[in-house]
Amino acid sequence: MWALQAVRLPSGAVVDVTVDGDRIARIGSGTSFGVALAEDCTGKLLLPAYIDSHVHLDKVLIRDELQEHDGTLAGAIGAIHERKRGYTVHDVCERARTVIEASVRSGTTRLRSHVDVDTIGGLTPLEGVLAAAAECSDIAEVRTIAFPQEGVLRDPGAYDLMEAALEVGADLVGGMPHWEVDEAAQREHVRLCFDLAERFDRDIDMHVDETDDGSIRTLEMVADETLQRGYYGRVVAGHVCSLSAADDVYAERVIEKCARAGITIAANPVTNLVLQGRGDRGLIRRGTTRIAELRAAGVNVIFGQDCVKDGFYPFGRGDMLEVTLISAHAAHLTTRADLAFALQAVTEAPARCWRLEDYGLKPGARADLQLLPVPSWEDALRLQPPPEKVWFRGRLVAENQVESVVYRRRA
Ligand SMILES: [Zn+2]
Repeated sequence: MWALQAVRLPSGAVVDVTVDGDRIARIGSGTSFGVALAEDCTGKLLLPAYIDSHVHLDKVLIRDELQEHDGTLAGAIGAIHERKRGYTVHDVCERARTVIEASVRSGTTRLRSHVDVDTIGGLTPLEGVLAAAAECSDIAEVRTIAFPQEGVLRDPGAYDLMEAALEVGADLVGGMPHWEVDEAAQREHVRLCFDLAERFDRDIDMHVDETDDGSIRTLEMVADETLQRGYYGRVVAGHVCSLSAADDVYAERVIEKCARAGITIAANPVTNLVLQGRGDRGLIRRGTTRIAELRAAGVNVIFGQDCVKDGFYPFGRGDMLEVTLISAHAAHLTTRADLAFALQAVTEAPARCWRLEDYGLKPGARADLQLLPVPSWEDALRLQPPPEKVWFRGRLVAENQVESVVYRRRA
């Protein structure tokens, strides 16, 4: 048993937090009395460890080996093909492990990775990420999504591979309906993915409408299918950029359906800020979905890292504090309530779509925690410090020390 004394919570409350085994035992003022292993944390902030619920661990860190392209989503997908053909399990595993470790150092202990499942790379990307997940199981929990990056109908054979992926260990069913050639094929793509999810009793996490084209409307297909099949709370739709380009009346109708279906929206502003709006002049759109309207409608909204130095995005370091700061800029999040919402988007909101009951700062929750050298969440966002300590299942798994000195000339 060990304790953190006089630590600040995001609410501003100053409490003691006692951990017993892998669980939080007690939270409250003076509740660590008698605990021998206790650390004074005056002036420091305690957060639950982040959840990065939208990342592509199979593709991370390949950027230096790719041809330059036009910077669009389509350009990036094409540029990766050759590299993907050359993947080995070892190569994918090494890169994924590097980013999992970086994520843990930055305070993330749960990750959900999309993994390409298609006829170019077969199951090699999945095998690589599963190997990294197993290797890192002492520091983080990694779940995987069988993601048909090249389409299902557009890539004959991909559907069988998705089935095989679920059999060998992928946790969720992915999808990318807007990538199909026409509306009928998009609808069929959605239907097939739900069939697979139902058959294997898995949740669904799809890439949906990652385009500036407001006439692309597969989010509504996903919402309709979710309602029809009673998949409430089990579906995540990622990106949904085209919702911003659709007219307001249509968008309101779809947002209402998403709320009713319990769909989580993975708005990933970090990548969409650079991928979308490339055809615009003058007022260049941000490319993000209708984050404020989704929030106002009570839809569960999360922010993910999505990409780390891959064909889509040259930056990224598995740091959800950085992701949240960029997302706050993209979505006009500046008030205290806005910043609290931003924190939710990388903690409680992904926990909800993972359907975790033991997440957060409460007695009985799994002790996945991080201690930051600042007194408040607002200052954490502003100053971007790495966490001093990170715990996974109650065990210390990372420490960061930053030292900087200013040398003044004194008279
Ligand atoms: Zn993605």
